[in-house]
Amino acid sequence: MTQMPPLPSAGPSVGGSGSRGIPGWALALIIGGAVLVVICVIALLVAILMPSLSRAKQLAMTTICQTNLQTIHSGMRMYLAEHDALPPDVDTLVRLNLVSPQALQCRGPGDGPPGRYCVHFPAGEPEKIDGRTLVACDLKGNHPDGMRNVLGYGGRGGYMDSRQFQAELQHPRNAEFAKALREKEGP
Ligand SMILES: [Zn+2]
Repeated sequence: MTQMPPLPSAGPSVGGSGSRGIPGWALALIIGGAVLVVICVIALLVAILMPSLSRAKQLAMTTICQTNLQTIHSGMRMYLAEHDALPPDVDTLVRLNLVSPQALQCRGPGDGPPGRYCVHFPAGEPEKIDGRTLVACDLKGNHPDGMRNVLGYGGRGGYMDSRQFQAELQHPRNAEFAKALREKEGP
């Protein structure tokens, strides 16, 4: 049985990790530092992009909501054209397929349940109703910024803050609507 000659030495290595030249602890420090830099860059990017992402999300949500209200308005006009009267309620429009059930859902904040609307068609002769009379609006809390989309009888809408909305509600032409809203969401 012959003895194998000893292998040539791999050279001096501190730390005994076997890697050539760079000691193990230094390698760990370099990798750790690089990972830290990557984490910092990602955190920075997230911090920069998040506000604009959430703004974009809010804008998209507001636009979908406005489209919903316009769908309700179109449904109301179609019903009016056919029946010569305003619909008794929005459920009637859904039943007649003039408004899809999805149009009655404001996609609420984040992943929460979809927000609802208060819809109330004014009484009286349709051609005598003021176009600014409220017909539909977001319920409280649908939008994270505290604003509400509203729809007037004439088809014009708006995105109102609380002060604007309260002022609009207090107008005599909206007394009926204000009552309907109170019944839905309390005083
Ligand atoms: Zn909404």
